[in-house]
Amino acid sequence: MKKEMKKGEKDPVCGMSVDPRKTRHSLEHDGRRRYFCGADCMEKFRSDPAKYSGMEARAGSGGEE
Ligand SMILES: [Zn+2]
Repeated sequence: MKKEMKKGEKDPVCGMSVDPRKTRHSLEHDGRRRYFCGADCMEKFRSDPAKYSGMEARAGSGGEE
């Protein structure tokens, strides 16, 4: 049995998880490296980083299943 934490990084734009080793799309923002599933998401983030950075902090408030 393998119990490996394979969380990866989360694409802040579309929300899917991204493997930092596989993606070629990354940006450094606010001292932190962000990974993206594709150039599309990377460009969106680059044009408005604050918009997508705020999403993480707000997650969990009102988004219950
Ligand atoms: Zn994406």
